[in-house]
Amino acid sequence: MSERLAVDGGRPIREKTLPYGRQTIEQEDIDAVVDVLRSDWLTTGPAVDRFEQAFAAATHSRHAVAVSSGTAALHAAVFAAGVGPGDEVIVPPMTFAATANAVLFQGGTPVFADVDPDTLLLDPARVAARISKRTRAIIAVDYAGQPCAYDELRQVSGNRGIVLIADACHSLGGADSGRPVGTLADLSTFSFHPVKHVTTGEGGMVTTADPELAAKMRAFRNHGITSDHRQREARGSWYYEMVALGYNYRLTDIGSALGAAQLRRLPKWVERRRSIAAAFDRAFSSMPAVDALARRASAAHAYHLYVVRLNHTRLKVDRAGVFAALRAEGIGVNVHYIPVHLHPYYRSTFGTAPGLCPVAEAAYEEIVSLPMFAAMTDRDVQDVIDAVAKVTAAYAA
Ligand SMILES: *Cc1c(COP(=O)(O)O)cnc(C)c1O
Repeated sequence: MSERLAVDGGRPIREKTLPYGRQTIEQEDIDAVVDVLRSDWLTTGPAVDRFEQAFAAATHSRHAVAVSSGTAALHAAVFAAGVGPGDEVIVPPMTFAATANAVLFQGGTPVFADVDPDTLLLDPARVAARISKRTRAIIAVDYAGQPCAYDELRQVSGNRGIVLIADACHSLGGADSGRPVGTLADLSTFSFHPVKHVTTGEGGMVTTADPELAAKMRAFRNHGITSDHRQREARGSWYYEMVALGYNYRLTDIGSALGAAQLRRLPKWVERRRSIAAAFDRAFSSMPAVDALARRASAAHAYHLYVVRLNHTRLKVDRAGVFAALRAEGIGVNVHYIPVHLHPYYRSTFGTAPGLCPVAEAAYEEIVSLPMFAAMTDRDVQDVIDAVAKVTAAYAA
């Protein structure tokens, strides 16, 4: 006899819902922000430079350009890659809409290439089939926190001048073959939204080894102007030039100070995420209704998300049923992602439809993101495991 589910009026595993992701804010974060509030600069001041330098050091990358969100980071990267009207950019469907939207911001055309069925990462063979004379860039998404097969993506893009962009919003702190995320692509983009590894409230970063691309993005985040007001003040000059169409995508000093304080604990937090993932792996290996996603042998996973796939042959209900039951147990599950090409905007603008990326579409019906964040206690981890065991047992086919 299985236990009565909370969704059927039984007692929930948790009274207060455990979210799927959450920031960690400690005294040193608060102190860093308060120091900036008492300083001369609230934005475009020295805290931005310090955060960029610390981020470049943490990711072993040469240049880091801070911006106001992960979406702004993607937009800056697409701009730096030179994408414009008539250009195609290959993107996976299994991502947040911002990945593909960034291509549209510059007038480019996103071309969806399907993902690998085991890892849900952009599949190099399917990318190869979508490359055309118009392909200007590829944006690979390190889904859930696992770096993509960048070496293979480079091989398929060949010597055609195709820019490789990593949407690394999930994978800060990860690596592939010992090389840190941030150095694996021509441009790598990060988000500091509170559910990500490190937060600035809202914020983002782009890393690159190319000083010209970095300079382009520094102007892009400041209206396309080649100097900022501190540089002009230092020169005693009012003169500036706007050389490209840019935006106000600046990150504040308040956010930068928070980000720099957070970054110091990144290694510890990634370790914690990995140990939570290991506990989930152990527990789910004996539950036939749930499967963890496959891992690439050379990848060091950063676990922004822990995604399980439901094995529908072992369950009497669909994903919506499992999702509702876990939520009723107080487990804040989520779904990442609705394939981007299935959103009404994409369907009506580009005529995309089911059948375009069958692997992502099939995976979408089976995936559930479980709570995963560094501040989870061992009790929280056990609650998630107990809830998954309870729900899958009650619905076992
Ligand atoms: C979070 C995220 C973004 C957008 O970042 P924001 O900071 O919210 O703008 C883009 N791509 C992926 C894969 C993300 O997870």
